[in-house]
Amino acid sequence: MVFTGRPNAGKSSIIRAVVGLDVTTGKRPGTTRRTSKYPLNDGLVLVDMPGFGRMIGAPKRLENRINVRIIRFFEFNAQNIVLAVHVLDTSTFLEVTWRLEKKGVLSVDVEMAQFLAKTLGEFPLVAANKIDKADKKKIDANLKEFMHRISNGNLSAVADYVFPVSAKTRDGLGALKSAIHERLVAKGYRTPFKTH
Ligand code: GDP
Repeated sequence: MVFTGRPNAGKSSIIRAVVGLDVTTGKRPGTTRRTSKYPLNDGLVLVDMPGFGRMIGAPKRLENRINVRIIRFFEFNAQNIVLAVHVLDTSTFLEVTWRLEKKGVLSVDVEMAQFLAKTLGEFPLVAANKIDKADKKKIDANLKEFMHRISNGNLSAVADYVFPVSAKTRDGLGALKSAIHERLVAKGYRTPFKTH
């Protein structure tokens, strides 16, 4: 079970809120640069991927090396990956996307979701996090645009994969946990957290 996300999207907070596992021990928030593995149950391992994409303050070479490592990890391990969860900062998605586009760069979140879908043969679950951090209109617009982009306009194809949540207020976490639970059970694993 692999968790991905841009630095600061709230990946550690989501892992803590969903699985009850603290992956931040000994790390400053937003600075995960290593792939960390945490054994759960039934041989299931939680993999915390380093933040993907632009890293504030990191030299370009290090950034590229980490991104290449993430891509290789998925390509090598695709057969063994039971489930991927991508954590999105929904509150800033469009601002960040437009800023990148001005530089001729694709949205890292869109790229990641599409890469995972292609490599794993199934869309990742998306924890559309930080819905408490902007007004509902902005969150809805950002979420719709994200879904539009990852599905190339076919929103209904991805509707079952995207879960608006807040790790802070715990809003929407129940639905995300149920979706993770369903997928793990379908692949013969027990869920490593309480489902109610
Ligand atoms: P990571 O770098 O993706 O692991 O991100 P963290 O889990 O360390 O979170 C980055 C920052 O965002 C921290 O200051 C968190 O407290 C904050 N954060 C995480 N989730 C939420 C959320 O749902 N709402 C708000 N308002 N802040 C959040």
